[in-house]
This record gives sequence, structure tokens and C-alpha cells, in this order.
Amino acid sequence: SVDESVLRRAADHAVAHLASLPDRPVGARTDVAALRAALDRELPDHGVAPEQVIDDLVADAGPGLNATPGPRFFGFVIGGAQPAALAADWLVGAWDQNAALYVASPAAAVIEEVAAGWALDVLGLPPTASVGFVTGGQMANATCLAAARHAVLARAGWDVEAHGLAGAPPLDVYVGEQAHVTVFAALRLLGLGAGRAVRIAADDQGRMLPEALAAALAAGNGLAIVCAQAGEINTGAFDPLEPIVDAVAAHGAWLHVDGAFGLWAAASPRRAALVRGLERADSWVADAHKWLNVPYDSSLAIVADPAAHVAAMNAAAAYLPASAGGVPDPSSLVPELSRRARGVPVYAALRALGRAGLAELVDRCCDLAAEMAEALAASGRFRIINDVVLNQALAVPEGIAGEDLPRLAAAIQAEGTCWIGPTVHRGTPALRVSVSNWSTTSEDIARSAAAIIAAADGLRS
Ligand SMILES: *Cc1c(COP(=O)(O)O)cnc(C)c1O
Repeated sequence: SVDESVLRRAADHAVAHLASLPDRPVGARTDVAALRAALDRELPDHGVAPEQVIDDLVADAGPGLNATPGPRFFGFVIGGAQPAALAADWLVGAWDQNAALYVASPAAAVIEEVAAGWALDVLGLPPTASVGFVTGGQMANATCLAAARHAVLARAGWDVEAHGLAGAPPLDVYVGEQAHVTVFAALRLLGLGAGRAVRIAADDQGRMLPEALAAALAAGNGLAIVCAQAGEINTGAFDPLEPIVDAVAAHGAWLHVDGAFGLWAAASPRRAALVRGLERADSWVADAHKWLNVPYDSSLAIVADPAAHVAAMNAAAAYLPASAGGVPDPSSLVPELSRRARGVPVYAALRALGRAGLAELVDRCCDLAAEMAEALAASGRFRIINDVVLNQALAVPEGIAGEDLPRLAAAIQAEGTCWIGPTVHRGTPALRVSVSNWSTTSEDIARSAAAIIAAADGLRS
């Protein structure tokens, strides 16, 4: 029989945690050593009652949680789960479906079909593209680039799935100078070599220079994958996709767009100019756990040519029946076989927001990032070093440089009003603000800016 009390207890704890987010210190209140001491209990020979397990977990882990789903966490690019998506995620756990195959979970497969169609719609991508529900941008980059590797080598008559890369025609990969680290990790995983990738120069915002790309492609051998970016991790800048698409098309190369957070700009009519030309690429990455604000772990690996996508990912075996869905099984679009139904929260998030709600979420975060930049600049004690075109702002405090910058970030985190991290943008250390949460308000920005300014003043004195 079902132990209802432990489930209700966990739900109560979860709701209390969420309710505490606007008021509690944003950063964790303890350290790793204390967490180890609390959590590393003796493993019992005979089990502990479920309610006790849950109560102890909450007590032990609580001080070590960052308030990442709360309104004033501005570190990395971390979205907070919106209510419908979180609730749907609870159902995913309770339903406990294996989303690999139509026959293993008809409902999960169809929910993901529909969520995929909605995502393509709001992002303005071809409705015929295929969508794999993977864990994050890292695996989405790997999945899309595996499809790219398949297609480009197939054009040269090489079956990379059968024969691997040993003896294959040389395949050139071009990336922007400011490509995300996970693109390089994906190239490593795929045997394409992170160090072999040709790095194309970028401007001061981190945007790939299309003339430099065209020149590099012209000097290449014609078998090529180009990795462009929508949303640079520090500045939020977009590679100029239109001239990049033209250059790539002229050389018959594959164009991949890593838009882990920036791709969502396509959902906003106010920001659509940033992604002009996007729909002409061959593959795209959009993280759902970033700006769509679904719980971890969730990202979309999108490929214009479903045949290339399936060829790269398909796993066939006698005990796995042919797809019961009339289209490839969900597992043939991702590296995993068995997995949770992570498309369900995506479905819930898109339906709860609607087209206008998603556009408004994107625009609101961008407007709030601009408010933060203005408040810091208006103090006269900070310089904003990026064009705030999206949800990212880079602030350099006057008179605080080098090693003192990470110290300032640590002081801000310790004070607890908000959480921001340090970065280095093209050699310049800066504080990095990312506004990616549905619950952040103007008041949160004002409070946080005041705390940041005060922490910088404290460090200077
Ligand atoms: C965050 C990010 C990634 C990696 O995504 P994960 O979900 O953390 O794996 C890749 N590319 C860009 C541009 C990103 O911002």
C-alpha cells in the first residue's frame, strides 16, 4: 500500500522551502565539511522509517542549499522552476515512466511529442525538426554535433556510426572564440578533438566575426561543422546569424547554434532581431532548465533533419520493439535509453505560460538585467562593460581589480541579500549578473543593487 504520509510530508517540506525563498539568505549557510558531518550517517543494517529519512534529509541538507529557485539568485545562468513545471515534475516522479519508447510509456511519448511541437513553434524553428529531451546543454550540444558529424561525413560517403573516425575524411570544425566550454567537451566526446577546432575571432561582446568565418571556410576542405552561439555566457551577445548562415550555406557546411539560454529570445517579438536567420541553421540547443524555468535536468537537442538525428542516436536490439508511435521512439533522439519523462515539465511550462507569457518572461528578465546595470552604473562606483542586450550584465567596480574581484563576489554572497559570481571577460575581471527567474521583481533588483554597492564600499574601506 502507498505510504501517503511520507509523500505529504515531503510536499509540506517542499512548500515550506519554497515559501522561505524570498526572505532567507540566498547563499548556503554552511560548508562542505559540516554537510559531510551531518549527512554521512552510518548506513543502517535495517532501514530507517521513510518519514524519518525525509525529515533528516531536510534538516541536514537545508543549510547547504542555495536559494537558486528564489528571486535574487543571479549566479551562472540558473532558472527557478515555475510552479506548473515543478508540480508536473512531481508527477513525473510519481508516474515513474520510462520515456524511452512509445510502448514503455505511450503517455510520456505523446506528451513529449506535443511539447516538442510547441517548443519549435515558440522558437520559430521548422515544425519538421526533431527534438531530443536531454539532461542539459552539454548533452544537447553532444547530441546535435553527433547528428552533424553523421550528416557531413555521410555526404563524403563515410558511415561514421559503422566505421568510427579512424580513416574518415578529415572533418573541420569551426567555433567562435567565445564558444561555451560544453561545445569543446562535446567535440572531445565525439572524437572530433577540442584542440583541432578552428577558433574564429570575435568582437568585444564575444560575437563571432562572420567575415573571418567566411575566409576560414573558403580555405577549408568543404567538410565542415560550424558552431555558432545565441547568448554568450558572460555578455548574452548573439553571433550575427544571418551572415553566418549565408557563409555556411555557400560552403555546404552544417550550422549548429548553441542557444542554451539565448535561444529563448526567439520567443519574444521584442528580441526577435537578435536571432534573425536562426531557422536556417541545421541544429539548435535550448535549455529548458535555464530560461523556460523548469526543474533540472532538462534541455532540448533540436535537429532540422530527423534522419540525421536518428542515425546518430538510434539504438536497436531484438528486445526493443519497433516504434509503436509511427515515428522514431524518443530514445532514438537522445544518448540515453532509459530515462525519466523530462518532457512533461516542459509541456506544463509552455502551457502555463502560453506564447505571450513566455515572451513576457523573457522580456521581464531582460528589463530587470538592464535595471540592475543602470542601478550599479548610477552609483558612480561601477562600470558596465557589456551591451545589455539580454538578461546578462557585467559590472566592474571602480578601484577593485584582480584578486579582489572574487573576494568582492564572496562578500556579496556571504551578506546574503543576493548571489552573484565573478568572471573574466576578455581579460577583464567582472561581476556577472544573470536574471533568469520568473519570480524576480524590480524591488529584488533594487535591494540587490544596494547590497552589491555596499559590499564594494566595504571592501574599498
Ligand atoms: C549553460 C550553457 C551550456 C551548458 O548547459 P548545461 O545545461 O549546463 O549543460 C552550453 N552553452 C551555453 C551557451 C550555455 O549558456
